[in-house]
Amino acid sequence: MAEFEREAMEYDVVIVGAGPAGLSAAIRLKQLDADLDVVVLEKGSEVGAHILSGAVLDPCGLDALIPDWKAKGAPLTVPVNDDNFFMLGEAGQVRIPNFPMPPLMNNHGNYIVSMGNVCRWMAEQAEELGVEIFPGMACSELIFGGKGEVKGVVAGEFGKNADGTPGSGYEPGMELHGKYVFLGEGVRGSLSKEVIAKYDLQAGHEPQKFGLGMKEIWEIDPAKHKEGSVTHTMGWPLGSNAGGGSFIYHLDNNQVYVGFVVHLNYRNPNVFPYMEFQRFKHHPMVAELLKGGKRVAYGARAITEGGYQSMPKMVAPGVALLGCSVGMVNVPRIKGNHNAMFSGKAAAEAAFAAIKADRSGDELTGYEVEVRQGVIGKDLKKVRNVKPLWSKYGLTASLMLGGMDMWTNTLFGFSFFGTVKHGKNDALATEEASKHKMIDYPKPDGKLSFDRLTNVSFAMTNHEESQPCHLQLADPNLPISTNLPKFNEPAQRYCPAGVYEIVEKDGKPEFVVNFQNCVHCKTCDIKDPSQNITWVTPQGGDGPNYPNM
Ligand SMILES: Cc1cc2nc3c(=O)[nH]c(=O)nc-3n(C[C@H](O)[C@H](O)[C@H](O)COP(=O)(O)OP(=O)(O)OC[C@H]3O[C@@H](n4cnc5c(N)ncnc54)[C@H](O)[C@@H]3O)c2cc1C
Repeated sequence: MAEFEREAMEYDVVIVGAGPAGLSAAIRLKQLDADLDVVVLEKGSEVGAHILSGAVLDPCGLDALIPDWKAKGAPLTVPVNDDNFFMLGEAGQVRIPNFPMPPLMNNHGNYIVSMGNVCRWMAEQAEELGVEIFPGMACSELIFGGKGEVKGVVAGEFGKNADGTPGSGYEPGMELHGKYVFLGEGVRGSLSKEVIAKYDLQAGHEPQKFGLGMKEIWEIDPAKHKEGSVTHTMGWPLGSNAGGGSFIYHLDNNQVYVGFVVHLNYRNPNVFPYMEFQRFKHHPMVAELLKGGKRVAYGARAITEGGYQSMPKMVAPGVALLGCSVGMVNVPRIKGNHNAMFSGKAAAEAAFAAIKADRSGDELTGYEVEVRQGVIGKDLKKVRNVKPLWSKYGLTASLMLGGMDMWTNTLFGFSFFGTVKHGKNDALATEEASKHKMIDYPKPDGKLSFDRLTNVSFAMTNHEESQPCHLQLADPNLPISTNLPKFNEPAQRYCPAGVYEIVEKDGKPEFVVNFQNCVHCKTCDIKDPSQNITWVTPQGGDGPNYPNM
């Protein structure tokens, strides 16, 4: 495509991703110096379109960034007023009292929010300060400078044919250059993955770990709705098949976020995370809540779970990784938005100081020090053993051990376990199908549970079909030659959007990739046992269109 010239635009800081991390960085940069040129590029058709975090938000990050957020009309209007934790069995549940839990697990003072709406509001704040925000602009390539530093990104390339050649309406996009480039792509960012590999940033750190989070929004019977109520569950239906659990958050307008997370380090390739979620809704306690209601939206996204010991080095020449591109989720709290905001703020402060000192294109080491030693590091360090203890000893033992560990860390800054390692990455944790049982999942009933494709239509996802498939197979034969006989090709099951299918053609199995269904959760890039799938960004504006997830 050499005949296409790309225009280049120069900025002080180029920010990829209008999530809480990227937007916080943009806001902080302009608060520090209104004359800085700051641009934010977002692949979703609008800010918030790809944000899946119907969330309990700890406002501490926002307090630090915009202390008068209430006066400025931030959409944090539903305070948590009821916090429940249940262990589920198939037919019943046991409530775990709140008092043995360390204070960090308490949700009082937090808010049930649509993070999509919070991001929309943050984008307005950023624009008022003079930040340029371009939604519908996917950043597809990194640009390197003469010294090997990241100098910018290519954004807004549209109209390629399926084979990668320029189509009739081809637009080559723009180069956006910055003194510093911030990658706030969220979990398993495609450019972040390249940066981590190129500069070997994971070296000396534990592998990143992930869960798959799936979520539906339900409108329920007003008589059963309890605005401000938060429930978490563990146990059934996952049992010993996988770690994970559910969340049920009652926001306003009789709406409830019903979500389910499955840890992606499960060994049995026959586990079907989506069907675990559907089955969960048939638990008597959950079914009673949802009965008579209707599901109005669906979405899915991976969530980082490696925590403190898995954070890679987060700076390289010219570039800094923010938020969940690093992995800043506090796993037992299932919260990462506050840390994403703190990280954006810290990166902005480091870049501001560097630019004032006439620096550019180097490593923002001050940012990394602040993340590891400041408020984010303190938050994550206390809970660093919860996930690896769970993976090692199972749910029941880890409730005791993880609980005790959080207490000793909170009270004395000390752990009997030191720092527990995660071991293998999630792809390699998958074992051969022959070692495991098949799992019989009940058929969805169409009332409480739904088949995948019906649910995907509630993510309102869309991809221009004529473009190249953005789910790239390093070896196109491998799904049939290796993954099918060895692992019963788990892509058929781990994808929450039904992208991957095995069909029969001329009496032989064929691997089909329905990339149009993709909801950008990135699970395939993480969990394929042969690590054969790479998720690259499709053209801007494609993907889910979440209303207020
Ligand atoms: C099911 C689920 C439930 C959760 N619940 C909670 C909760 O209750 N409370 C909480 O605090 N946290 C929760 N989290 C975690 C929280 O969502 C993350 O910690 C947070 O989203 C991280 O923010 P971020 O800005 O780093 O990334 P994101 O919020 O993922 O934002 C990244 C943005 O970058 C864009 N982008 C990515 N790549 C590109 C590209 N190449 N070009 C252009 N744009 C790009 C994306 O479209 C997206 O808009 C939950 C996560 C999941 C999956």
